[in-house]
Order: sequence, then C-alpha cells, then structure tokens
Amino acid sequence: MTIQVAVLREREPGERRVAIVPDSVKRLLKAGWAVAVEAGAGAGAYFSDAAYAAAGATVLPDAGAVLRDAALVVTVGPPTSELLQQVRSGALVVGQWFAHRHLDAVRVACERRVTSFAMDLVPRVTRAQSMDVLSSQATVGGYRAVLLAASLSQRFFPMLTTAAGTIRPAQALILGAGVAGLQAIATARRLGAVVSAYDVRRATKEQVESLGARFVDLPLDAEAIGGYARELDEDERKQAEAVVAKHVANADVVIACAQVPGRPSPRLVTEEMVAHMKPGAVIVDLAAEGGGNCACTVPDQVVERHGVRIAGPLHILSDLAEHASTMYARNLEHFVALFKRDGETVTPPWDDEIIQGAALTHDGAVKHGATAQLLTTGGAA
Ligand code: NAD
Repeated sequence: MTIQVAVLREREPGERRVAIVPDSVKRLLKAGWAVAVEAGAGAGAYFSDAAYAAAGATVLPDAGAVLRDAALVVTVGPPTSELLQQVRSGALVVGQWFAHRHLDAVRVACERRVTSFAMDLVPRVTRAQSMDVLSSQATVGGYRAVLLAASLSQRFFPMLTTAAGTIRPAQALILGAGVAGLQAIATARRLGAVVSAYDVRRATKEQVESLGARFVDLPLDAEAIGGYARELDEDERKQAEAVVAKHVANADVVIACAQVPGRPSPRLVTEEMVAHMKPGAVIVDLAAEGGGNCACTVPDQVVERHGVRIAGPLHILSDLAEHASTMYARNLEHFVALFKRDGETVTPPWDDEIIQGAALTHDGAVKHGATAQLLTTGGAA
C-alpha cells in the first residue's frame, strides 16, 4: 500500500498559505507517495480542489477523513490540539511549529505519541538549503514589506524627470540585512529607491554593497556562533542608536527586519527617532511578532505616530500566498525525501543531522532541548 501524505487546511485566522501545492502533489506521486487533501486547503492561495484532483490528489471533505489513514501530515503552522487528537498515533507531523510560542500543541503531540518535525528548526547547513523555510519565507517577507511601504508612502520611489518637474528618489533604510533584509534591499532598488542598510554583523557589508546599497558602518561586530547576531550590550546599543538615529531621520521609508534568534526583537527605532522623521515617512516593521524593532509598532495594525505611518504586519506572507506556498512546498518535498519508506511504515533516518536538528517530539518525549526546558519551566525563558 502507498503511504499517505495528509494536507490540511490551515486553521490560524489570517493564514492563507497551504503546505503542498498541486505541482508538488505531482512530484510526490512520482516519488511513490499518495496525497490526500482536505477540501478547501489551497483556497486561500487560489489553488482549487479541482487543481489538486487534477494533479492526482484525493480531495476529502474534512480533516478527520484526511487524517484517518495518513502516516505523514504536513502543515504550514503548528496543528491545533483538536487536529492533533485526530492524527493517528505514531504518525509523523511536519510543519513550522515555532514551539516556544505553541507549547500546548507540543504537549498534545507528546501525549498522542506523534513524531513531529519543525521545519523552522532545520539546521542551516549547506545540504539543507533546499529545505530552509526560514529563508524561503523571509524572501517573501522582505519583498512584500517594500511593496507595503510603497503603497503606504505618499511619495514615488524612483527618480522621475517629467514635464511636471523632477522628483527625487525615495531614501530607503533597511534595518537588519539577513535574508529578509537583503530581499528588501533588492526590491527597493528595483523600484528605484536609494537604499542604505545596517546590520550588527559586519559580514553583511559585502552582501549589502553587492546589491547596490550603502552599508551604514558601525564600530562593532556582533556575529555569534552559527552566523547569527547576538544581543548587543548596553554600550553597543547606545553606539548603534547614535548612528542609526541620523539615518532614520533622513529616510522616507524604513524596513525593519532585525532579529536575534530566541530573543525578543531588538529595539532599534525609539519614539524620539520617529518624532524626528520626515512627515509622511513610512516604517514597515517585520519584527512586529517578536515585539517590534520600532517602539511605536502595534502588531497587525497600521498606526500614525508623529506624522509617520508605521505598519506591523503579522500575516505578510499570506499576502503572497501562492508563491509563499509554492516555495514552502518545495522545501517540504526535499525534507520528506529524507524519510525511509517500507511498506506502510515511514521512518525518519535518526542518524541524519538534519532530522536530529528538526526533531521536536518522538515516542512521547520532547527531542528539542530548548523546548523541553521551556515546558519544564512552564514557558518562562
Ligand atoms: P534573522 O532573521 O535571525 O535576523 C535578521 C538580521 O537581523 C540578521 O542579519 C541579524 O544580524 C540582524 N540583527 C540582529 N540584531 C540586530 C541589531 N541590533 N541591529 C541590526 N541588525 C540586527 O536571520 P536570517 O535572516 O534568518 O539569517 C541570518 C544568518 O543566517 C546569516 O548569517 C545567514 O547567512 C545565515 N543563513 C545561512 C544559511 C545557510 O544555508 N547556510 C541560510 C540562510 C541564512
């Protein structure tokens, strides 16, 4: 019998993405899986049930029917506790769990003896690049953030020379030149803005400049193990603030995408800085979920403070649901290709560092150290 992959409709309000798109269904079938899709699963991303059926999937009316025979369940966000109750004991569940924010779901996965893998924990080693959902989704976020900023702005991005006069190009400042920031730089440049960017990792200088943006130099380097940034100490923070304040004051548009893994978003733009910005300037804060890079950000809202429009979108990836889903599905395809299949059983190769890194729960236990610790401390970091 072929092993069944279950594709569920996402339950989180505002989520429009889907874990597997019809093109991926075709490739999964070719690789020997069967695919069952909950009716309406792709609707938010404009993938119809008919498109899934045409690709060879079985479309079933509800989650219960889809989960009944599934050995492998794929999702975008963590499944709800209610869905986990319906997952077959021993089945594998693969999705973005962001476990520190969804400890209840992790508890239920343990109770149900579900083996779960978190795509957000896939180690960022070269071999796992094709499975890197953090990068694929950050690419979407960086791109969309610039489009959102352009639509909130009252100014053109490009320089225009017209019979009605010459318009100077917008000055865009990107805070945090990780994957999202680099995509934001590229997008703002394509729209014709003059772009500067800032990051506490000096290694990003070359990448920023190679995209045609100016690097805002800081007298520090806060690169930590694994290539990520560490949190700045108080002195470093003040130094950075003094440099960034001048650039923020000069910007028409600020795209904020600075993050420190496992920590609240670094606060880079104070209310005082906002008060010194040009009237009509725009800030798009991609770090809103973790508390925001800007002190005035209100998650999921566009607010106006001191004449500056500030957006803190939480579902920006759903604004590009088709391609965000397509990229996510590709990442999943590569990840599930690691699993070994034998008859009706599917087994993760436990000696593989990618599998070990992404493993969240197995056999009733939490496999990810930091999550296990959070569960024992009741969620306090
Ligand atoms: P991220 O989302 O954790 O952070 C975004 C950016 O914010 C980072 O560049 C970080 O340096 C920056 N930042 C943190 N604190 C800041 C502060 N106070 N001020 C300004 N900027 C600040 O990171 P990410 O975008 O997911 O990835 C960043 C790292 O991961 C990079 O080193 C990247 O090369 C690496 N990476 C590796 C692979 C791989 O396959 N090997 C894939 C993707 C990313």
